[in-house]
Amino acid sequence: MPTETLTLGFHGAARTVTGSKYLLHAGPENLLIDCGMFQGLKELRLRNWTPPRFDARAIPFMALTHTHIDHCGYIPRLVNAGFEGRILCTPPTADLLPIVLKDAAKLQEEDARHYNKLGISKHEPALPLFTEEDVERTLKLVQPIEYGARFNAGQRFSLRFLDVGHILGSAMVEVTAQANGKSTVVVFSGDVGRYDAPLTPDPTSPPACDYLLVESTYGNRKHGAEKPIDQLEAVVEKVVKSGGILLIPAFAVGRSQQLLFLLRELENARRIPELPVHVDSPMAFDTTAVYLKYLKNHQAVMDAVEGGGAIISRNVQLHKTAEDSRRLADLKGPAIVIASSGMLSGGRVLYHLKNFMTKPGSVLALSGYQAEGTRGRDLLEGKRSVKVFGEEIAIQGEVVDMAGFSGHGDSDELMRWVSGLPKPPREVFVTHGEESQALALADRIQREKGWATRVPAMDEETGL
Ligand SMILES: [Zn+2]
Repeated sequence: MPTETLTLGFHGAARTVTGSKYLLHAGPENLLIDCGMFQGLKELRLRNWTPPRFDARAIPFMALTHTHIDHCGYIPRLVNAGFEGRILCTPPTADLLPIVLKDAAKLQEEDARHYNKLGISKHEPALPLFTEEDVERTLKLVQPIEYGARFNAGQRFSLRFLDVGHILGSAMVEVTAQANGKSTVVVFSGDVGRYDAPLTPDPTSPPACDYLLVESTYGNRKHGAEKPIDQLEAVVEKVVKSGGILLIPAFAVGRSQQLLFLLRELENARRIPELPVHVDSPMAFDTTAVYLKYLKNHQAVMDAVEGGGAIISRNVQLHKTAEDSRRLADLKGPAIVIASSGMLSGGRVLYHLKNFMTKPGSVLALSGYQAEGTRGRDLLEGKRSVKVFGEEIAIQGEVVDMAGFSGHGDSDELMRWVSGLPKPPREVFVTHGEESQALALADRIQREKGWATRVPAMDEETGL
């Protein structure tokens, strides 16, 4: 059995939410878990432009937990820096990854063009972080592994994916490492989903391990008892009364499907009228098709299909091209527009924000986590003007937080999840949360479970 030391490096999502990158290292071998983009605050986004502290060419395997950009959005950049290893993930993640990364590349290229046209970039010229060509090279490296199947990633590491109920395909990764003359088990939570959530199963309990990494997005917060479907009904009612536009920024993978599914349930129960629903996302259609492929065994979906033959809201129009999107500018309410990105950090939703939210009677309903430094977070915290493409715009409509839609477990749910461990771990590393959230969860686990916890710093490396 190899005797080299085993180390773990935290190269992202350490005392912050985005940029997930954890590197296990033993002897000559490396295993990277997630490779996400930094988002939100400028000091974080700038990190995307400095090379990571590890050598991209020396990584033969990467395990990807799910297809959110803060977990997968840096992979094409790593490929550009020489990464040629295999990208291991569950089959649904392998199907969603091309959709998500191609869209991200397009956005990167569109934004760079836009900034160059306006001449408002501090870089001359503004460049995309990666291109569609980088994405094409990335996709050739993907290797799907079924949930629960064990895979040998080199001589020293073996791993398996277990469903964690966050979005379709999402998983925690259980890694068994051979080093120091023994086996060490490390579990990486990925993003832990919610219990009793629409279209996702409950998170599986973590398996026995020596070390557990747990996310802490909502380490010190509670979502409240109100159900997502009731929150959605309430915001739809507001525009039915005002005749305005309900704008819902939503990530095209996961959140958009949940929204369309619940709108249909509300329509079926005659709790809301059948309003026009415009999904302005080139990738929502492809993503919905992947959802249908894998969710056919999902009980709620089967019930819906038996009940009416469709699982999405009745008057849905998908807008694929930029021209389709522009036509929405003259839309009259009451109507619903769903567009990404979910944190108003980029994408087509910004045009709609400028167009609709400057009119009274409109409602902006935030439907997921809003990272520090994003327009979504500013509006959530009460700011009434935001900058869009260099121009300050005043928000006239109402801003509502539909916290129930979060894809992340809250503090109580995270405690319920870690409590599923069959035996106490040697140490719990609390990651993927703003500092105050991570520290609070670490403290709570220590107090309530009596386990050793640590909140690692960015780029910290530790021997295991
Ligand atoms: Zn996520």
